[in-house]
Amino acid sequence: MKVLVVGGGGREHALVWKLAQSPLVTEIFCAPGNAGIATLASCVPLVAHDIEGLVDFARRADIDLTVVGPEAPLVAGIVDAFKAKGLRIFGPSRAAAAIEGSKAWAKELMLKARIPTARYTVVDNLPAAQKYIKEHGVPVVVKADGLAAGKGVVVAEEETQALAAVEEMLAGRFGEAGRRIILEEKLEGEEVSVLAFCDGENVLPMVASQDHKRVFEGDQGPNTGGMGAYAPVPFYDAELAKEVKETILCPAVRALAEAGHPYVGVLYAGLMVTREGPKVLEFNCRFGDPEAQPLLMLLKTDLVEVILAALEGRLKEIKLEWHPGFAACVVLSAPGYPGDYPKGEIITGLDQVPEGVEVFHAGTAWKGGQVVTNGGRVLGVTARGATLEEALSHAYRAAEVIHFPGKHYRRDIGWRAYKLSPR
Ligand code: ATP
Repeated sequence: MKVLVVGGGGREHALVWKLAQSPLVTEIFCAPGNAGIATLASCVPLVAHDIEGLVDFARRADIDLTVVGPEAPLVAGIVDAFKAKGLRIFGPSRAAAAIEGSKAWAKELMLKARIPTARYTVVDNLPAAQKYIKEHGVPVVVKADGLAAGKGVVVAEEETQALAAVEEMLAGRFGEAGRRIILEEKLEGEEVSVLAFCDGENVLPMVASQDHKRVFEGDQGPNTGGMGAYAPVPFYDAELAKEVKETILCPAVRALAEAGHPYVGVLYAGLMVTREGPKVLEFNCRFGDPEAQPLLMLLKTDLVEVILAALEGRLKEIKLEWHPGFAACVVLSAPGYPGDYPKGEIITGLDQVPEGVEVFHAGTAWKGGQVVTNGGRVLGVTARGATLEEALSHAYRAAEVIHFPGKHYRRDIGWRAYKLSPR
């Protein structure tokens, strides 16, 4: 089977790495890919949002299955475009991907399906926003409705901060994505990400993971795309998993089907486990990055078999199998990220990485026969271990032998795992 992976980050490298292990796969292409992906797949010089170009390539190259990494092409309708040409593709349709593409739409769906989430309102003008903030006070969470590359959320502790965020968003900081905003209650608790394979009807949850969004240790500094992740999460026990499946994942998939948009793909629930139980912070319509890296390293089952079962509506037949123990991913980023950062710096030490550690490339490229930096998040160093400590120590040992000027990484990935259960 010829497979095409759309995207070019650490998530896509992990997807290519996992797909390459399937006996069902004969050849892998990746658009646009990166320097690490190029060692496992043929990279195609097409960007992820060039839907027409990708459809054309898949037809010409006789691709049997396309797997989409990032949210933007899904929200823009890549799945509908492929299906219209009779091409097999894994991911939600444009209408179903609105669960990530419009936070207001997702909130409405949750309200209808009685899915626990923060209380909220949707506004599209300054006076209405000011009125809500004055009436409800702070803290308040301000969110742009549409896609904002992880930057469209402000958890405001001060009224001035909330008002400034609202003004900025309504003034067009995120373009159309911020024309409508959500104002919601701040939830307290422990965050956890639960991803599930879905076939339109059935839901097959993966083990839970935790991301580390802030750039510095102790969760300080600005938000990033994610500086590391680990799985499974010790406090996420069988009881909590059952509650999340029954009160969040299944109702969401049922509500989408009832709305005429059956959800096929990976559904990502970003949750806050509060004293009253798990509540939804956000839904994403794809694998998270970096969460995909530890999750795919832990997954024992053939990913192609799971994807085919999802596409054929028979996920019920699949039981996901996991390697025992834990996996952890430590992201090495460029200096200055998430602000401005240099590109084109030579990366050395990749050949010194101990066996068993996977270095998933995110922002890298080949230049003059060398691997160079080409993005803010450069590499995701990922390892497994019998314990979380062991997985982390393998990943950190590898992180130390890789070098590029200004290399930055957090030394405290997984720290929340050592805290007590929040319930
Ligand atoms: P992503 O990059 O994960 O897609 P996003 O821009 O869609 O991010 P959210 O995940 O909704 O944004 O929010 C980002 C972060 O803001 C969350 O991980 C969480 O820490 C915080 N957050 C969002 N909503 C709330 C809330 N209601 N209460 C407390 N914290 C919140």
